[in-house]
Amino acid sequence: MAGVAGMLCAAAGASCNGASGSGGIGAWSFGSVFGGVSGGQPADVVIVNGRVWTVDPLRPEAEAVAIVGDRIVAVGARADVEERRGPNTRVVDAGGRFVMPGFNDAHVHLMTGGAQLDSVDLKDAATPEEFTRRIGERAKGAAKGEWILGGNWDEQGWPGAPLPTRSLVDAVTPDTPVFVTRYDEHMSLANSVALRLAGVTAGTPDPPGGVIVRDAKGNPTGILKDAAQAYVFKVIPSPTAERRAHTLRRALGHMASLGVTSVQDMGPDPDDVAIYEAFASRGELTARIRAVPAEVPLAARLASGPVRHHPSAFLHVTGAKGFADGSLGSTTAFFFEPYTDDPASRGLLADEMQPLEGMRTRLVAIDKAGEQLCIHAIGDRAISMVLDLFEDVQRANGPRDRRPRIEHSQHLAPKDFARYAQLGAIASVQPYHAIDDGKWAEKRIGAGRAKTTYAFRSFFDNGVRVAFGTDWPVAPLDPLQSIYAAVTRATLDGKRPGGWVPEQKVSVAQAIEACTMGAAYAEFEEGNKGSISVGKLADLVVLSGDPFRVAPEAIAGLQVAMTLAGGKVVYERR
Ligand SMILES: [Zn+2]
Repeated sequence: MAGVAGMLCAAAGASCNGASGSGGIGAWSFGSVFGGVSGGQPADVVIVNGRVWTVDPLRPEAEAVAIVGDRIVAVGARADVEERRGPNTRVVDAGGRFVMPGFNDAHVHLMTGGAQLDSVDLKDAATPEEFTRRIGERAKGAAKGEWILGGNWDEQGWPGAPLPTRSLVDAVTPDTPVFVTRYDEHMSLANSVALRLAGVTAGTPDPPGGVIVRDAKGNPTGILKDAAQAYVFKVIPSPTAERRAHTLRRALGHMASLGVTSVQDMGPDPDDVAIYEAFASRGELTARIRAVPAEVPLAARLASGPVRHHPSAFLHVTGAKGFADGSLGSTTAFFFEPYTDDPASRGLLADEMQPLEGMRTRLVAIDKAGEQLCIHAIGDRAISMVLDLFEDVQRANGPRDRRPRIEHSQHLAPKDFARYAQLGAIASVQPYHAIDDGKWAEKRIGAGRAKTTYAFRSFFDNGVRVAFGTDWPVAPLDPLQSIYAAVTRATLDGKRPGGWVPEQKVSVAQAIEACTMGAAYAEFEEGNKGSISVGKLADLVVLSGDPFRVAPEAIAGLQVAMTLAGGKVVYERR
């Protein structure tokens, strides 16, 4: 044997630093340490001939991995790991390619994403005319009464960037209700049929935390921002269980093809969680789902007694997702200073922050029940207010390992980086937004605020734990796009090839850490996931190329060759 087990290195004082492919091996002594986990049993799967990037500081690189059941039992040199090979072991030859832990996306909207795979795609509709054409095409195939939803439109590429209006689509959708959503999900366009069904008229008031955009005569243009979207969402018929199951299957297939073995689903519909539970009980989940319920209904349920979850290896229902403000694209992110391009506005606080005392009371109660807080905050003032709330929670309930999260953490007041570190708060960020919003963000917030916007490097430098995600379907689910975005910061319009605010670029190693170990830490799962280490779940990905050895610009073009979840191959590229 060339070495001792990784976990024992530190205790034994052995040299583990700089371990390379030819270094020691992993698991032998864990047969006894982990009892049933490895034993001396032959492996079910061995992966050999890889450049294994483990994200485990005790053994950063290796050549081979052995798996028994759903767990990793050995990591190390090929010759050593191959000792675990038996007559029935499946041998995967990685062909010298890059092997890493499965990707964990810390922030998705799983079923919205799955549904978008089957819906009209408006994200790259480059003109209002194209927008109209695509919706018209989709309407031709729609069943009677079927709603056209999703869409992910983005008006910022249109000449003058006007918001769409219902007049763009009414003519092509005379009988079909349309409620298509901007890619940031903070505003949607209703056609006249949808407004009629929802009862939204010139006389309808703006709700707290929402805006009905109106024309010069006061009539709704069809654009509903943030909380105002609820007027229409309320009247959209709920999908059937069959439809939900179809959507989940679509989402799982998409995840596997991109190497995403874990997702953290923010604020799912309880009826969708019931579908996740049915899939989990039948062993049909091919990626691990952590569902994070919305905080307002969770607080109400907690008020009438403890809420019990039945965690399994593939499904956890934990934490609480809340909202402090809107989004930059919809000018509803809440800032200390006015928008540069709209001096009358500083953005909007979310309805659940009004009154603030209500939010504080709920968060204290949820934290007291042991749940993790995951609060959406984008503008610098909303982020500061959420940090204040986290302090209030800590003061009320005393110290514990609570890892409160700020979802998006987009625009930081410079003083607040240190507060994240002090509070142990996690920055749950989506790097793809930086290269997408980076096309136009400066006109909205000015160059000064842009310096601490999507400030991933500053988080790392301040010792803040960073978790990467995509907010899928707001951004593509592909984690290699996130790594590319964080490493290059090259905006999608090609105008800043050297990077937008280049001092905020991170290294490839930091980016990989944030979408594996960082995301696992952000869900208290670092003991099970996030690195290729003995005893952890066998969630692994083989990539077509090595992100450390290709040019940064080429990272986005890498592909997933194989995905394993719980030791099973769930995707293989043909
Ligand atoms: Zn989100």
